[in-house]
Amino acid sequence: MNKIIPFNKPYLSGREILYISEVLESGKTSGDGKFTKACHSFFEKKYSIRKSLLTTSCTDALEMAAILLNISSGDEVIMPSYTFVSTANAFALRGARIIFVDSVTNHPNVCPHQIEMAITARTKAIVVVHYAGIACKMDEILELAGKYGIPVVEDAAQAVDSFYKGRPLGSLGDFGTFSFHETKNIISGEGGMLCVNGEEHIARAEIIRDKGTNRSAFFRGEVDKYGWVDIGSSYLPSEISAAFLYAQLEAMDLIQNRRRSIWNRYFNNLANNISQFGASLPVVPEWSSNNAHIFYIICASLKQRTHLIASLKDHGVSSAFHYLSLHKSSYFHEEYNGPDLPNSDRYSDCLLRLPLYYEMSNEQCDLVSQLVISALSEFY
Ligand SMILES: *Cc1c(COP(=O)(O)O)cnc(C)c1O
Repeated sequence: MNKIIPFNKPYLSGREILYISEVLESGKTSGDGKFTKACHSFFEKKYSIRKSLLTTSCTDALEMAAILLNISSGDEVIMPSYTFVSTANAFALRGARIIFVDSVTNHPNVCPHQIEMAITARTKAIVVVHYAGIACKMDEILELAGKYGIPVVEDAAQAVDSFYKGRPLGSLGDFGTFSFHETKNIISGEGGMLCVNGEEHIARAEIIRDKGTNRSAFFRGEVDKYGWVDIGSSYLPSEISAAFLYAQLEAMDLIQNRRRSIWNRYFNNLANNISQFGASLPVVPEWSSNNAHIFYIICASLKQRTHLIASLKDHGVSSAFHYLSLHKSSYFHEEYNGPDLPNSDRYSDCLLRLPLYYEMSNEQCDLVSQLVISALSEFY
């Protein structure tokens, strides 16, 4: 019996506990202290983000974006069906009609042409998801946004430290949202960030994040008292989370380089060995960098994927499928009246994610690759 290879194992630099202790000793454990500010300026400087605001999750950052865009009942919001529930939920909570569109044929990312087809007079936002940290076709999408005057939200939950034609993801749309959930490249247990890229939204974003109060402006001495000035909620994380996150940000290059090395190893191991079984490798278009968030293969069928998962499991390896098309979800399917979304359905049935984490050894990567190839050849 081989040693168990988990699907994911969170990386810790060792400094998380030091910084958390520092916060505990300082007595100031609520939000927006020294570590929160350090995280904000890290992102603003390194990734050209106009204003970074840590949040308690990417879900919350998406909810903030929906509030900032004044999304209300009857507004339409266009997004891919192949995404996480939160992408849609944040806008559904404000009463929006979610207009799901399809992914492109060779990648789970949304198709710009399908977005354009779905635009109506009621469209209030376009939400794109950079799946696996790979950039959507942002020139086309931003051009559409400009042509029709519709704001763009980048769900960059998986896209930390990734780029479109050299420009940082999360900094390109009106808003960008990141996740630091345990399963992402950079983590703080639960955590997220809103990138506010338009000057005009910054003041209100701070208010919405802080229970609808102008407390941030008060602490900067810009007003002499603070109170209820708008709607909002409690979206700002504690300093304990920010201290955890800051330790991870310091290790960014180390983490990303190791993940990329494993990703490339999988790619090379499998490059000439899976297409004869009808399976295919991930595509990284020339406009995108690769932050190695996910290594996936696309199986020939649901049956082949089911066989592969079971076979890997028999050998102690955990692998995982990913999203199920949201237009077919139990919550939404009765409301959905758009066209079939065959690419989204194909990724729902056929995409399989292989283990990928910082501590994974080259030998483990080679073993999983071998197991994938032999499982495919058995099934074929
Ligand atoms: C992880 C993820 C989210 C949710 O992030 P949380 O921080 O857990 O709220 C949203 N969208 C996408 C695409 C994700 O991968």
